[in-house]
Amino acid sequence: MTAVDPALRATRTTCPYCGVGCGVLATPDSDGGAAISGDPGHPANFGRLCSKGSALGETLGLEDRLLYPMIRCSKGTMERVAWTDALDHVAHRFAHIVKRDGPGAVAFYLSGQMLTEDYYVANKLMKGFIGSANVDTNSRLCMASSVAGHRRAFGADTVPGCYEDLDEADLLVLIGSNAAWCHPVLFQRMLANKQKRGARIVVIDPRRTDTAGDADLFLGLKPGTDTALFCGLLVHLVDNGALDHDYIESHTSGFEAALARARSIAGSVGATALATGLAEPDVADFFQMFRNTPRVVTLYSQGVNQSAQGTDKVNAIINCHLATGRIGKPGASPFSLTGQPNAMGGREVGGLANQLAAHMGFTPPDIDRVRRFWKAPRIATHEGLKAVQMFEAIARGEIKALWVIGTNPAVSLPDADAARASLKKLELFVISENVRSNDTVNAGAHVLLPAQAWGEKSGTVTNSERRISRQRAFLNPPGEARPDWWIFSEVAKRLGFGAAFDFGSAADVFREHAALSAFENEGARDFDIGALKSLSDEAFDAMAPVQWPIRPGETQPQQRFFAEGGFFANDHKAHFIAPEIPALRTETTAGRPLRLNTGRIRDQWHTMTRTGVSPRLGQHLPEPFVEVHPDDAIRFGVADGGFARVVTDYGQCTLKVAVSERQQRGMLFAPIHWSEANASAARVGALVAPFTDPFSGQPENKATPASIMPYEYVFRGFALSRTQLELPPQVWWARVTVAGGFGYLFADNADLARWQSWLRSVAGSDLAEYRDLGGGVYRAASFGEGRIETCLFVGPARDAGDWDVVKQLFAADALSDDQRRMLLSGKSIDGLASAGPIVCACVGVGRTTICDAIAAGAGTAAEIGAQLKAGTNCGSCIPELKRLIAQADVKSARADSGQRQLAGVAH
Ligand code: SF4
Repeated sequence: MTAVDPALRATRTTCPYCGVGCGVLATPDSDGGAAISGDPGHPANFGRLCSKGSALGETLGLEDRLLYPMIRCSKGTMERVAWTDALDHVAHRFAHIVKRDGPGAVAFYLSGQMLTEDYYVANKLMKGFIGSANVDTNSRLCMASSVAGHRRAFGADTVPGCYEDLDEADLLVLIGSNAAWCHPVLFQRMLANKQKRGARIVVIDPRRTDTAGDADLFLGLKPGTDTALFCGLLVHLVDNGALDHDYIESHTSGFEAALARARSIAGSVGATALATGLAEPDVADFFQMFRNTPRVVTLYSQGVNQSAQGTDKVNAIINCHLATGRIGKPGASPFSLTGQPNAMGGREVGGLANQLAAHMGFTPPDIDRVRRFWKAPRIATHEGLKAVQMFEAIARGEIKALWVIGTNPAVSLPDADAARASLKKLELFVISENVRSNDTVNAGAHVLLPAQAWGEKSGTVTNSERRISRQRAFLNPPGEARPDWWIFSEVAKRLGFGAAFDFGSAADVFREHAALSAFENEGARDFDIGALKSLSDEAFDAMAPVQWPIRPGETQPQQRFFAEGGFFANDHKAHFIAPEIPALRTETTAGRPLRLNTGRIRDQWHTMTRTGVSPRLGQHLPEPFVEVHPDDAIRFGVADGGFARVVTDYGQCTLKVAVSERQQRGMLFAPIHWSEANASAARVGALVAPFTDPFSGQPENKATPASIMPYEYVFRGFALSRTQLELPPQVWWARVTVAGGFGYLFADNADLARWQSWLRSVAGSDLAEYRDLGGGVYRAASFGEGRIETCLFVGPARDAGDWDVVKQLFAADALSDDQRRMLLSGKSIDGLASAGPIVCACVGVGRTTICDAIAAGAGTAAEIGAQLKAGTNCGSCIPELKRLIAQADVKSARADSGQRQLAGVAH
C-alpha cells in the first residue's frame, strides 16, 4: 500500500469521525476542497463509507477557521499575535502557576479526535515534565468504562477480538449500541454476515433503534438493568452445562464469587425477566441462543459505558465470555465499539488521568520505567483528576490553568452549565482549536491557538480493532495553523525541556512512542509496537494499516488475544468480577417522573463543528428534538411536531417533540449535537446529571430524572440567507447549513411586525413581500443577481410555507420569472415537488419521495434502491427505508381492518 493511490492520484487517509476507522481516498481539487471516496484497500471498510464519511469533502471550507494565534488583551477583546508571543505567554503563565501553586493546579483536557502523536507529546509534557497527571480527555465520556472493565478482567486495556470476528460469528449481540447510526460501516458488515452466512442478531437496548430493525430478537430492557441480564445469563450457562471448565480452571480466577453474586442478582430466567422488565420467553430465547452458539460476539458501546455502573456492566458481559472460553477466537469475543476516531490511540499513549503511558499505570515499577525512558525530571506519581472531577476542581478554584485541545466541554460535559461557568474562574484558559467560535471558546478563552484540521494534519489513529492507520495531509494548512505536537513541543522548550521535546516531525514522535511501548516489555504488556520504532520517514509515510501488538523483530501482528489465556494481570489470569447489585443513582420522583437518555443521530458528529457545515448532512434531522412514547405524550400533553420543555435538576431545554413507539414508556431521548452556536435552547449536556462510575469516572448520560411539559408557539417559520443571521431575542431557533447558505428554523410568539422590521434590518427594504396579517402570515425575500439573497417565511404552524421547496429555490443560481412569482406562495410549483426531509443523504432522496414509491408498490429496500437509488451508496439509510416500509404496512393493515369493520357494520 502506498500513501497515494496512483490510479486516482488520491491520498490515502482515515475518516476523522467514529471508531470504525474507515480508510478514505482524498483527491484535492483546485478550489481547496477534495473529492472523497472509500479506500477499497483498507481492511476496516473495504471501500465503504457512511453518510458522514461520504460528505467529508463538504466540510473542508475555511469560513469559520481560526487562522492565527489570538490573546485576550486588556480591553477584553481577542487580538492576533505572533506564534512566538503566544507560546511565550502560555509557557510563562503555566510556569508561574506551577511555581506558585504546584503542578496539581494545571490541567490538559484532550480529545479523541487528536492524533496519537499529538496525544503522546501532550501526555509526556504534563505527566513527565510538569509533574501532574491532570491530563484527561473527552474519551472519558465515551469508553472509559470499557477501559476500566478490560483492566479489571484482563489486567490491561486489551480489545481481544477484531473486525473479522463480525464476519465469522454465528450470533452477534449488540447491547447499548445503535451501530446502524453510530458505526454504520461495521453494522453493514454484520448485516452482510447475516445475509451470507445466516448469523443471527440480538439487539438489547431500552430504545428500539434502527439497529433493532434487522434483529432476530430485540430486548427492550429497562434502563440500567444490563448487569442483571448478563448475571442471569451467567447463571443460565452454569445451570445448563455450557461452561468451558478447562478455560475457567487454567486461565481465570474469581469464578465462584462472581457466580454467587450473579445468582443473588438474577438467579433464574424468571428473576432476570423481573429485574430487566423483559418477557420471560424473550429472556429464555436469548439465553438459549447464547448458550448454543459457540461463535458469539457481544458488541457494546455508549449505552453500556455511559453509566454510573458502566464498568460493572462491561464486566458482567466479559464474565459470560470468560465462562464459555469464547474470547479471542474467530467469531467469538466481547467487543467494545469505540465512539471516537482515536480514543484507542489516546488510551495507548496514556491520555487518561488514571493511566501513565503506553498501557502502563501508576505502579512504582511503571513510574520508574517511564521516568527512565523519558529522562523525566518530575514524573507524576499518582492518578490525576478525571474529566468531571477536573471541572469540579476548576469550579472550586483548585485548578487555575487549563489547556483544552480539540473538544467542546461547555457542550459535551454533564451538568454543562456548571462546567461552562467553572471556566470563568480560570486564571489561564488556553484552547487549541480549528474554529474561531464555539461554546467553549465563547466561555472566555484567554489564548486561542490555531491547530491543523483533518486533511492538513499528519500522524496516526487507532480504531476499535487495534488497527493503527495513517491520517495523511492532502491540503496545505491555512493561515498559521500548526500541528498540536509542534505546539506542545514549543511550549515544552520554553519551559526548559527542549532536549526531551526536540521532535522534527510526526514520524519522530511516532518512533519514540513505539520505542516506549517496547521498552522493558518482553511480552509483559499488551501494547507493544516495537517493530515500528525504527521506521524511516519514508516508511512512516507509506505505512499500511497495522494492528497491534507487533513486537520487535515481528513482521506480522497478533490478530487476537486470550484464546489460550496469557492475561496481563500479575497472576497471568483473567479475573471474573462480582458486580455490585445494579441500581440507578437516582430515583424518578413526582416532579421528575421520566428518565432522559441522550445519544447521537445518524448524520451528525459531536457538537457539529465539522458535520454541521455539510448541507447534505443537515437535511436528515435538522432540528433538535426529544423523542417521547405515545402514552407519555398523552400523559404530559405534548404533541408530535409541537414543542416541549425538558427540565432536570441541572438545566432545561426546549425541543421539538417526536412521538414514537420506539421510545420506551417513562423514557425520553434527546440528541447531544446542538449547542448555543447552532440552536437557542438545545444544549442537552446541560440536562445531564454529573454522576460518575466509581471505577471509570464515566458519567451517567443515559438516565437523568426529568420532566416534560408542552411549550406553545403561535408562529413557526424559517429564514434562508447567504450569510449567518442573528435572530431576534426570545425566538426558538435552530441553524442548519443548506446549499448556498444558512437556514434557520424558528418558532415565536411575538407579532409579525417584529419580523418585518427585523428582516428589513438584515436584508434592506427592497423586498418582495406577501402579507396576510389577518391570517398571521408574512413572507418576504430579497434578490441579488437573479437569486434569493435572504428570505423569510412566518405563519401559523399549518401555513408557514414549505421549507423543502423554498430551500430548493434558494439553492438555484437564478430564478425564472415564474419561480420568482411563485416563491412567496411557499408551495410546490412546476418541477419542484417537495421531496420532504432527506432520508438518503448520499443520493439526496426525501421521505415524501420514498413514501410515494412505497405507496406505488416498492415493498423492499432493494426495490426502493432500484427505483430511486436511495440506500445504494453507503447503506446507512437502509434501516430507515425498512422502517418506512413497515410503517406503511401497519397503516395499510389498519386501513384494511377499518374497511372490514366498516363492512361489518354495514352488514
Ligand atoms: S463508519 Fe462512517 S463515520 Fe465511522 S469511520 Fe466509517 S465513514 Fe467515518
